[in-house]
Amino acid sequence: MPDYMKVPFNLPPRTGSEGKYIAEAISGEKLSGDGPFGQKCQSWFEANLPASKALLTPSCTAALEMAAMLIDIRPGDEVIMPSYTFVSTANAFVLRGAKIVFVDIRPDTMNIDEKLIEAAITGKTRAIVPVHYAGVSCEMDVIMEIANRHRLYVIEDAAQGMMSYYNGRALGTIGHMGSFSFHETKNYTSGGEGGLIMINDERFIERAEIIREKGTNRSQFFRGMVDKYQWVDVGSSHLPSELQAAYLWGQLESAQEINDVRLAAWKFYEKMLRPLENEGCIELASVPSGCAHNAHMFYLKTEGLEERTALLEYLKRREIMAVFHYVPLHTAKAGLDYGRFHGADHFTTKESERLVRLPLWFGIEQSAQQHVIDAIFEFYQ
Ligand SMILES: *Cc1c(COP(=O)(O)O)cnc(C)c1O
Repeated sequence: MPDYMKVPFNLPPRTGSEGKYIAEAISGEKLSGDGPFGQKCQSWFEANLPASKALLTPSCTAALEMAAMLIDIRPGDEVIMPSYTFVSTANAFVLRGAKIVFVDIRPDTMNIDEKLIEAAITGKTRAIVPVHYAGVSCEMDVIMEIANRHRLYVIEDAAQGMMSYYNGRALGTIGHMGSFSFHETKNYTSGGEGGLIMINDERFIERAEIIREKGTNRSQFFRGMVDKYQWVDVGSSHLPSELQAAYLWGQLESAQEINDVRLAAWKFYEKMLRPLENEGCIELASVPSGCAHNAHMFYLKTEGLEERTALLEYLKRREIMAVFHYVPLHTAKAGLDYGRFHGADHFTTKESERLVRLPLWFGIEQSAQQHVIDAIFEFYQ
């Protein structure tokens, strides 16, 4: 393999049928949100995953914002989540005035440590937001049991978790609500941006439609359930374009194939890098039994921050784009203003500084993966 082979970090998934569906969407007389492709996509989620109600949104961020409105988060309320996550997990609740209470993660999955949640609950706690990092499930039985006992809501941030399962149940369908992302970096995309809210508790369906349609009962009006449509609640514009839905349909049709192909690439990295782990050079992700993941991400862990910086630099010189994320939210400027960390930060900062994400996308060639693997072996030589 030539040394000059360039390997990007990510390429958005594409099946080839997206263009055909977009052409179909614009060929009709009418083009509007919640059109035929929007309905088809939502029905797919309700049938296949399944949810009581699936509603497409412009992003996962928008889906989380809808969830915060649906459970009536008010100033002073507290919401529990990991600090090792994307900003939107917190921002959606901060926008409603909540204080974010961060708890530590488990080093094996980088997910919220379910054993630390109960001690972080106060009289003001309203919700728990588990984030399924890398599409590997949080310990949902324990989390749901705690939530039920304390009468809290569970909103799953399943941005990375579409087509992943926890003891046979699809991620995003276990909590009261769940959210998916169709951003270009995720396993499925609706043309660069997009998302979906899964409503699993039927009590929220009617209001979810209203909040999504600017606080109006427009959906009920179109179904003939009310004779005029008007402002009935808070809300915003959380309905995506039909073009996004048409693009997404081109991927949902091949959802299983995309998942299988990603998993094969993920397993190739795992098999080839396992010897380096056995030698004690790196650590690989562990997937708890009962979790079937979607190969959203392949990561390894270095000894620490210095070694990670050196490895990323080494790969970059070979034009291999490996990356890291997240700066823990509780250490970031806004995190200090809007949140607090409950208990000790044993793993959040330390483990986040060791993590390296390798290039992985739907259709990555094995030769590109081999190039990455060779470079990592050379680094540790
Ligand atoms: C990608 C991501 C989001 C945000 O998704 P958007 O669709 O870009 O709004 C939220 N949470 C997590 C954990 C993510 O990975």
